[in-house]
Amino acid sequence: MLTQKSCVICGNTLTQVQALGGNTCANITCRTTALKKQDEANKLKKQEKEETFLRDINSKYLSYLEQNKSEKNELPLYKIPAVDSKPIELASKEKRTFLRYLLKLIRIASSDSYDLEKDTKEHIFKKTPVWIDEKISQKKWVGEICQLCAGYCCQQGEKYAYITPTMMREKLSQLSLDQAKDLYQKYKNHLPDKMINHSCMYHTTKGCALPTELRSNTCNTFFCKQSAKIIKDITSHQNKKIYVIAHNDEYIVRANEINITDESDG
Ligand code: SF4
Ligand code: SF4
Ligand SMILES: [Zn+2]
Repeated sequence: MLTQKSCVICGNTLTQVQALGGNTCANITCRTTALKKQDEANKLKKQEKEETFLRDINSKYLSYLEQNKSEKNELPLYKIPAVDSKPIELASKEKRTFLRYLLKLIRIASSDSYDLEKDTKEHIFKKTPVWIDEKISQKKWVGEICQLCAGYCCQQGEKYAYITPTMMREKLSQLSLDQAKDLYQKYKNHLPDKMINHSCMYHTTKGCALPTELRSNTCNTFFCKQSAKIIKDITSHQNKKIYVIAHNDEYIVRANEINITDESDG
């Protein structure tokens, strides 16, 4: 037997059709009131989730400070994004799509009728990166921050590894004819067997599979808002150590202290 449902707002009995579609009657006031209530409930839930998460971050930080008593109150806390996806096989279809894209770029870039305005429009990356002084970006500790995150920014590289026609044109102009011919093969050879799910094809659990000279300018100079802030703070405050928590929207993925030294990477 069917139990009769009532409108959660006015209490009127619902028709069978209304009962299937939701929990309000056809009255517009009931519908909008119910929607508003639902919206508020969702907001509250989201807020509670965020608060729990912030508490998690704080307790992680406090317990770290507790274990390292001498540093108490001296260690600035920073939060950065984090990659937490598993590696997957790099599909042949994706490889082919990328290699075709690459060939197209090489062809566009080496042609005389290259139209910068038109040809660069075809692939614009979603977020605006922040550029940092090159000398600072090569510091070891800057690399350590990005290692803790594991390349959240690489996810926007997607199928194209941030390689644009403009970049290809610049690259080709620096190469001899033979080197230029080898370029395609080099990109092909460096394609990994496994990539981080939903990221750039060259993004692996060990980092970027491309050597620096094959990476795009964006890859070599990009800093996200969070890491740029750390770099800015540190170059003006000269803190010797910081505590960095890498997290996604819901939980802490990795956390560690970072020692600020003058050493450069590699
Ligand atoms: S720049 Fe930002 S998003 Fe990219 S790897 Fe470094 S910390 Fe992660
Ligand atoms: S080429 Fe390397 S650095 Fe650039 S987006 Fe892909 S994995 Fe990241
Ligand atoms: Zn109603």
